[in-house]
Amino acid sequence: KQEQYRALRDRPFRTRDGVEVALMLNAGLLVDLPHIPETNAAGIGLFRTELQFMVAPSLPKTAAQEALYRAVLDAAGDKPVTFRTLDVGGDKVLPYMRLEPEENPALGWRAIRLGLDRPALMRTQIRALLRAAGGRELKIMFPMVSCVSEFDEAKAIVEREQARLAAHGFEAPAKVRLGVMVEVPSLLFQLEEIVRRVDFLSVGSNDLMQFLFAVDRGNAKVSSRFDPLDVAFLRALARVTAVAGAAGKPVTLCGEIAARPLEAMALVAIGYRSMSVSPAAIGPVKAMLLDLDAGDVANFVRPRLERFDGGHSLRAELGDYARSR
Ligand code: PEP
Ligand code: MG
Repeated sequence: KQEQYRALRDRPFRTRDGVEVALMLNAGLLVDLPHIPETNAAGIGLFRTELQFMVAPSLPKTAAQEALYRAVLDAAGDKPVTFRTLDVGGDKVLPYMRLEPEENPALGWRAIRLGLDRPALMRTQIRALLRAAGGRELKIMFPMVSCVSEFDEAKAIVEREQARLAAHGFEAPAKVRLGVMVEVPSLLFQLEEIVRRVDFLSVGSNDLMQFLFAVDRGNAKVSSRFDPLDVAFLRALARVTAVAGAAGKPVTLCGEIAARPLEAMALVAIGYRSMSVSPAAIGPVKAMLLDLDAGDVANFVRPRLERFDGGHSLRAELGDYARSR
């Protein structure tokens, strides 16, 4: 199997009927970078900046952050990288940052909420990103955004740092693009407003699933209870591609759901043309893509999302579909 996947390395990310579906990598540390040439991924769709903070014995200094971001951009070369600002809190704990224990950490003071309340931390990180990307394109996205004003506030911080660096004579990035993760369900009902403001969207299916179904993503007893191929979930995901498509804004999906071929097939059917997965998933998902007729699978899935009778998953039917082609 591994041999087979390696043989696909140089084939373009394109379905049998010629639809481009970019597969990108989820990454977070220097050790992940060799996977770019290894898998020939289209870029880094999600760089989890909190990992550097989680493995360090103390808060990483701006220079250390900048050095990492520069190394990532160097390794990616011409390929795009999307940096996600610190997503700490919840299941992601920094041992040196004393946070009060919370009853519901997943719903607590985390990610962009912490970033906006403690702007010093966020400003430092934005500064490190802007400096590392001097002369190059920089893509930044914000995690756990639950309302439009959070993006506006975060954007203001970025703009302030851009002005500050310019005043100090630093080389600016060639372009700065800002986006948000769609992973809190409230954003599904503000898509039209958020999409006008951002340059791109990125669906975090792990958290979106957790919050949409109210199932703890780390608790196997409940997380296995709902299927990502559940019609309700696919409908939510399809809303994102519909609204982003109408606004002409790119959307990527970067949760675990895209790492499994059958799930990825459903995502192509509902309009996803860019997905970001762990390195080991590139081979199997690419093999599926090369063999897929995107138009045909859309015709199979879409009507099933419109008329269905009771909460169930498309897994069995889609599995039959996949085997019959
Ligand atoms: C997600 O929530 O789907 C996601 C990609 O981010 P993380 O797994 O880091 O929360
Ligand atoms: Mg998440």
